[in-house]
Amino acid sequence: MHEVMGQNGFHAVLNIARLPYLVDSYPPPDFEPGLRFDEVGRLMEAVEGIYGVRGGRRLIKQSGHYCFKYGIEGFGGVIGFADFALRLIPVSLRVRIGLEVLAEIFNRYSDQFITLGENEDWYFFMMKQCGLCWGRQTEGVACALAEGLLEETLYWITRGRRFAVEEFICLATGQAMCAIQVGKTPLN
Ligand SMILES: [Zn+2]
Repeated sequence: MHEVMGQNGFHAVLNIARLPYLVDSYPPPDFEPGLRFDEVGRLMEAVEGIYGVRGGRRLIKQSGHYCFKYGIEGFGGVIGFADFALRLIPVSLRVRIGLEVLAEIFNRYSDQFITLGENEDWYFFMMKQCGLCWGRQTEGVACALAEGLLEETLYWITRGRRFAVEEFICLATGQAMCAIQVGKTPLN
């Protein structure tokens, strides 16, 4: 978020979100949970409060892209091997692997609870417990950070392909889960 909104913008967000203790003191890049779910929910709400719902969600989605870029650095050497192995795997299978690995990481290292589903045209990334919209009540779907993270993961794992990635139901709008649909056919 700091990358996307700049220092001043992000500090304003932290203050509105009642998280001033994070100014200039971000959690370290490791697998320990650095923020509570209610704090993450407040962070998202503050971004939308400052930049508007539409503009805010666009910035949050971009932040999701950066989450992938920073997140993958932490995997170091494993990525070099994955990079090599991926070349041998067809694009359609890479998409499935990307979603499975992401779900596994979330389930193992956070309290986010993710299951996967699919039909002929779509994969479904379903979050029955979701930290991104925790404590929120919104008009529309609110988990743009997960959309951005998925977009960037698939872009990387397929070497530059883009896919339709869209949240279509959300806990914050009163539904039973947050769910993001991911098109099986690349857009490019
Ligand atoms: Zn959510």
